[in-house]
Amino acid sequence: MLNRRRFAALLAAGASLALVSAPALAQDTPKPLPVVASFSILADMTSRIGGEHVAVKALVGPDGDAHVFEPTPANARDLGSAKLLVTNGLQFEGWLPRLVSTSGFAGQTVVASTGVAPIPFEEGDHEEDAHGHDEHAHAEEGHEHHDHGTNDPHAWQDLANGQIYARNITEALKTADPANAADYEARGEAYVAELKALDADVRRELGAIPENERKVVTSHDAFGYFAKAYGIEFIAPNGVSTESEASAGEVAAIIRQIRADGIRAVFVENIADPRLVQRIAAETDAKVGGALFSDALSKEDEGASTYVDMFRHNVSELVKALKTS
Ligand code: ZN
Repeated sequence: MLNRRRFAALLAAGASLALVSAPALAQDTPKPLPVVASFSILADMTSRIGGEHVAVKALVGPDGDAHVFEPTPANARDLGSAKLLVTNGLQFEGWLPRLVSTSGFAGQTVVASTGVAPIPFEEGDHEEDAHGHDEHAHAEEGHEHHDHGTNDPHAWQDLANGQIYARNITEALKTADPANAADYEARGEAYVAELKALDADVRRELGAIPENERKVVTSHDAFGYFAKAYGIEFIAPNGVSTESEASAGEVAAIIRQIRADGIRAVFVENIADPRLVQRIAAETDAKVGGALFSDALSKEDEGASTYVDMFRHNVSELVKALKTS
């Protein structure tokens, strides 16, 4: 039995141990700031700007689909111990508010898209068959965008917006970890400059494609910002969310449009089922181009594992498919 005296002695020993170990801990290198980003593209941006001062985890990882993500208990634990949460906003992450409240997250949140000019959804954008479940009736009452807001969330597909994201993340890191603010500022500026240079490259490369050739088909409508910024037209059977499914009529309409407009390339996406666009290609003369990375990066060593490499990859696939031989 543990008598009172022994217990007191143990407590004293514990206390002195604590006194001894505290200075030893203080000499360790400072722990990196724990950051959680909602998906892989934001995680990459944050790692680039944060460098060795941050330890970033993505909730939706490479090749993952944030439209239909279901958080796990491990995600809740990661978020619960994070000091900063980086989100896209524009209602891209519909599952996030619940995860935040169950995780006990008590850090700061930065909405990376703050300040971008959002592109509103076009009315009737493949929405009538968007929900094959009991929310369909609800959708017909004019709330058809309840899953993903009224604006297109894929703002990162324009490098000018990417620069806004980078600046927002830089400011958030400076606030969350003021001791390293100067490093965040310097890295953030260098990163913004890199994105700006890449934007010029992209404009030059895509500008070389004849204007009447700049039309492609993709699985879901993730390239509205890209289209607006770089003058390529994307036609997508699945609408802006991968949750929706194209109806037979919509697919037939796209096939007619491919034939009528002489569209030459159809692209699969890393996050979407390729079968529909493959079927569309098979019924037309369009060829299936490589995979475009829309809502997630690739795994390491697969050519699009950073935001910058994703852009380079997508542009080179588009140029390859559209350049007149
Ligand atoms: Zn998407």
